[in-house]
Amino acid sequence: MALVDSFGRVITYLRVSVTDRCNMKCLYCRVGDDRLLVDNQEVLSLEEMGRLIGIFAELGIGKVRMTGGEPLLRKNLVRLIGDLTKRSDIIEVSLSTNAALLERFALALKQAGLRRVNISLDSLREDTFAHITRGGQLDVVLRGIRAAVVAGLQPVKVNMVVMRGLNDDEIPAMVDFARTWGLVLRFIETMPIGEAGQQADTRYMPATQILEKVKDYVGCDCSLTAEKKMMGNGPANYFFHTQSGTTIGIIAAKSRSFCETCNRMRLTAKGELVYCLGNTGRMDLKGPMRSGASNGELRDLIVHAVQKKPLEHMFLDTGGRNSNHAMSGLGG
Ligand code: SAM
Repeated sequence: MALVDSFGRVITYLRVSVTDRCNMKCLYCRVGDDRLLVDNQEVLSLEEMGRLIGIFAELGIGKVRMTGGEPLLRKNLVRLIGDLTKRSDIIEVSLSTNAALLERFALALKQAGLRRVNISLDSLREDTFAHITRGGQLDVVLRGIRAAVVAGLQPVKVNMVVMRGLNDDEIPAMVDFARTWGLVLRFIETMPIGEAGQQADTRYMPATQILEKVKDYVGCDCSLTAEKKMMGNGPANYFFHTQSGTTIGIIAAKSRSFCETCNRMRLTAKGELVYCLGNTGRMDLKGPMRSGASNGELRDLIVHAVQKKPLEHMFLDTGGRNSNHAMSGLGG
C-alpha cells in the first residue's frame, strides 16, 4: 500500500525525533530553556516508537531517520535501530546527530545496520563552535566524525547552517575539510522555526550567495556542475566539484520551495505526527495508542493525517511566526 497525500505526493520517509533532549543548545535550534522540555512520561517508549514505525512501514514508508534533540542520548537507541533494520519492509535507517557521542556509538550503530549519518557542524573554529552550540566541544565532535568514517557509515554528510557574520567566512574551510575527510558537505539556509530559528534568521544568507562563495573558492563555474539526481531522501540540491571529487549540497528551505516533492512526515518524541515543518498541524498518536487503539485503528489515523499535509510551508508568508514548533523537538 502507498501513502499518498491529497496533492498526489507519495509519502515514503519518516523522521522520528526520539528525544527532545540535547547535549548542545545550538542558538538557531532552541532557546535553551530546559523548562520547555517534555515530561518523561509524555515521551514515547522505544517499544511504542517501534510499534508506530512498524505501522508506517506496512503503509509503505521504507526509509526512517532517527533524529532529535540528540538521538544518541536516547538509551537503547542502537537496539531499536537493530530491530528496525531486520524488517524486510524497511529499506534504510539513518541518523542525524551532533556527533558528540558518536565516537562511542559509531561501530555499534554500523553493526546494528545503520546505513548513513548526517552530522551538524557549523564551524571549524573552537570559539565559534562553542558559541553557536552554547558550550559544545569541537575536538569531541571531530573525533565522532572520524569514528563514523572509520566505521564505514556511508556517506557521512556534514550539515552547516550558514549564518551571516557568524560562520559564512568558513565556507572555504568547510569545503577543504569535506574534501580531506571524504565527506558530503551540505549548506543549510536558516529556517525561521520556533523562537530560536526566528532569531537566527536575522542572519539569513540565501543559497545563491552561499553558492557564490563556494564558486569563488573552488574556481570557475564550470567545475561546479549541477547534479540533477537526488542523493538521499530530501530537499538538497547537489553539486559535484569535479576537480576535488567533493559533493556539495544546498538546502534552500526559504529561497527555493521544495514542497512539491515533499515525501515525508515527522513523528515527535511525544507521539505527535507533524504534517509539515513550516506549518502548525499535527495529530496525536500517543493518546489513542495508550488508550488501546489497535494497529488497524492507528493505521487509519495515519492515513487520515497524511491527507492533512498542506501544499507548502509558510516561511515566506509569515516569517515562521505561524510555526509553533521548536526545531529541537521536531528533529529538523
Ligand atoms: N541533534 C541532531 C543534530 O545536531 O543533527 C539532530 C537534531 S537537529 C534539530 C537536525 C538538523 O536541524 C540539524 O542539521 C540542524 O542544523 C537543523 N536545524 C535546527 N534548527 C534549524 C534552523 N532554525 N534552521 C536551519 N536548520 C536548523
